[in-house]
This record gives sequence, structure tokens and C-alpha cells, in this order.
Amino acid sequence: MKKRIGLVSQRNNNIPFVFEAASRLGVELIDIVAKGEAPQPAFPALVDRLELDFFDNPDGALADLKTWVSQGNQLDGIMTSREEAIVWTAKAAQSLNLPGLPVDAACAARDKSEMRRRLAAGKCNVPAFLDYRGPQDQAALDALPYPYVVKPKSAFGSAGVTLVSNDQERDVAMSHVAAMSRQQFGRYAPSQSHDGVLLEGFLDGAEYVAECFAVDGKQHVVSLGYKGNPRGPYFEETVYLAPTQLPQAVQDTLVEEAAKGMAALGIDNGPGHCEMRLVDGVPYILEIGARVGGSGSCHYVVEESTGFDLFGAQMRLSLGETLSDVPERPKPIRFASNYIIPLSGSGRLEEVVGLEDVQNHPECQRLLRFIPNGSEIKPYPDFSGFIGFIFGTHATYEAGLAQFEWLDKVIHPIWAQDKVG
Ligand code: ADP
Ligand code: CA
Repeated sequence: MKKRIGLVSQRNNNIPFVFEAASRLGVELIDIVAKGEAPQPAFPALVDRLELDFFDNPDGALADLKTWVSQGNQLDGIMTSREEAIVWTAKAAQSLNLPGLPVDAACAARDKSEMRRRLAAGKCNVPAFLDYRGPQDQAALDALPYPYVVKPKSAFGSAGVTLVSNDQERDVAMSHVAAMSRQQFGRYAPSQSHDGVLLEGFLDGAEYVAECFAVDGKQHVVSLGYKGNPRGPYFEETVYLAPTQLPQAVQDTLVEEAAKGMAALGIDNGPGHCEMRLVDGVPYILEIGARVGGSGSCHYVVEESTGFDLFGAQMRLSLGETLSDVPERPKPIRFASNYIIPLSGSGRLEEVVGLEDVQNHPECQRLLRFIPNGSEIKPYPDFSGFIGFIFGTHATYEAGLAQFEWLDKVIHPIWAQDKVG
């Protein structure tokens, strides 16, 4: 009989990588979907669906899952690549005695201020930061030197993240972030601590991501990629190209910092998406997601650029297999990219011009659309989702950059107000 893994709260309904990896592995997936959210369509390997209220009633959902299993339903593992579901999935694994992330590590990875404290305690490079809880922290706030970044503690997608350079910008950003946290992200926060606002010194340098994978406390880094150099005031994600072209010694410092950060958070088994900035040659961690990044889309970049089956490894781990084939350090074989279609506007999305050209481009392997035409999209720092991702495979780094430039010229989202006049 095939093994069955519960896949908790897969985001969007068209990211195929985890399903493809499951089907290659001969594993069956159960779509564990949040109450009120749309189920996944008929992907390969998807055999069943279970709706649970894990966002609004996490304890009740744990009890419901245990009842479902006790009724004889097969469940050999449980995993997620959804940021908001990391803590519940860790708790579910623990309560069913299945392999999973320690709940404590899951909570630390979901609270950016706790993450900062642990990274500092773990001797990682950390910018000046302040976990602002209220007027009692006013003196510390006034002492923090500009420029710095204001951000929610438990959000994602760069929602609310704002660069500020004076008191006026700071006050606007802080009240916006506090409101966002209360209204939008509190539902998914690991604790009441989401009410606060996190402030961090601005790390002025290009951005990189280490795709990490821990096995029994040993930190492996399977890929290192370039993530652009967004300068604010808002931080819409743009590009991802791996491997980097950095000198080996600099790559080594990024890899070491990421591994140290994973250990500091207690992510001792499974994937970690570690985002960093390199400031004058010194790596600083922005954050670590205790999951495959990009709601699972980073699997593509890792597998294409290194041959390592990231989701396959996560599934095998969640089934309790001992993994002995995870490379300790990146071993790139070619270049792979993800171009995140820039919003370049807001309002009602009428259409996205240029996508047919993309489908005919030899280096473009896949195109995923998320925000459908007709949707109302707010400008950053609000976050309503991504228009789409374009995945590419390239013979050289320069070819990857050239494709980004070409896509910048070819793809044009059309917004309702663009048409006026
Ligand atoms: P999210 O979970 O929403 O992705 P991040 O903390 O990763 O939040 O911030 C999103 C983006 O904002 C980062 O990828 C980076 O470009 C920028 N950013 C966040 N914090 C800093 C910082 N301290 N210095 C410079 N840029 C930052
Ligand atoms: Ca991030």
C-alpha cells in the first residue's frame, strides 16, 4: 500500500511541484484544507481531501484530525509549505506522533521578533532591532537610528514592510502595520504577540536566499540564489536566479550564516528558506521560513539548478525515512530562475499583456498565474498576492539576467485606470 501524507493548506490552486514530486515518489497526498478555502484541483497523487478549521479553531481541528485518524483513515506523515500553517502542522505531527518540526521552532519561525532574538543569541549577524509593544518602548524607539524598516511580526509577502527615514514616515508606517496585523494577520499569528511592530536597521545590500535542509540537527544548504536588490520604500519581490555568481569565499559565508540561523531557530529537520542581505561582504539574515519557499515554487529553482528533489526529501522525512543523500553544500548543475511578474500598478487588473510571447520563449519552462483578471489589487505596502511566476532554465547566469530584462520589456499588466482617457 502506498504511503499517505497530509498536505496542509497548499496555497493557490495551481502550484504543481509538490504533487509532481509525490507522484514520482509513489506517495499519495491528502489535501488538508482550511475551512472556507478552496480545495486543490485534481492534481496527480492527490487522493483525498479533509476540511479542518485550523486557522480559526486550531485545537478543535487537532481533535478532529485525531478522530479522523482513529476512524481508520491512513495518515503516514503531515507537512506544509504554507507559512500560516507551520505551527498547526507542527502541532498536528506532534499529537499524532509523526515526524515534524519541533513546535517551539515552528513558533519562533513565525514570529519575526522572536526570530531576531534567537538569531542574536545564536551569534548570527543581526541589525539593530526593536520589538515595539507600546508607549513603554518610546525611548528605545526614539533612540533607533534612521533609516530602518517597519514590519509586522507574523506576515508574509512583504506585506506592510516599509523603509522609513524620519518620524513622520515612521508614524504612518507603524500605524498601518499595526492595523494590518490586527485586521489581517492576527488570524494566523502564533500568539497574541502579533499586535506589536518590529523595527530593524535597514540592511543595504543585495539579497540572497539559501535553500536549507536539516537532517537530524545537521544543517545542509542545497542551493544559493540571487534575489535582486529592492531598495524600498516597499519591497515587492522581483527575481530569483540560482546559483549566484559570487566568489566562493563569499558563498561560503552566506552558507555558514544560513546554517547557523537554522540551528539558532531549532529547525533540526526539514526545509528552511533563508533570506539574507550581504552588507559590505557581511551576511545578515532577513528571515527564515520553516518550509519550502514561495508556497512550494522554490522547489523548481532548487531541482532545476542542482538536481536535488527538495519536496521529495521533505516527504521522505515526513514519513520517517532516514535521509543520507542530502548534499551538504550547493552543487549546481545549471541556472534556474523565477521571475515574479511586477504589479506595476493597482486597482482592477484587466489583463496581462505579453504572456503568449513568454510561452514561446525557449528558456521559459513554466508560467503560473495567480491573481485572475478582474481582481481588485491594493498597492504595496498592502499585499494581495502575486500576478504570476515565470520559471526559466538557463545555460549561463547572464542568460538568466537577460531573460529578466526581456520579460521586463514584454510583460505588461493592464490596470483599469490605465485605460481611462
Ligand atoms: P516577509 O515575511 O513579508 O517576506 P521580510 O522580513 O522577509 O518579510 O521582508 C520582506 C522584504 O523586505 C525582504 O525580502 C527585504 O527585501 C526587505 N527587508 C525586510 N527587512 C529588511 C531590513 N532589515 N533591511 C533591508 N531590507 C529589508
Ligand atoms: Ca521574506
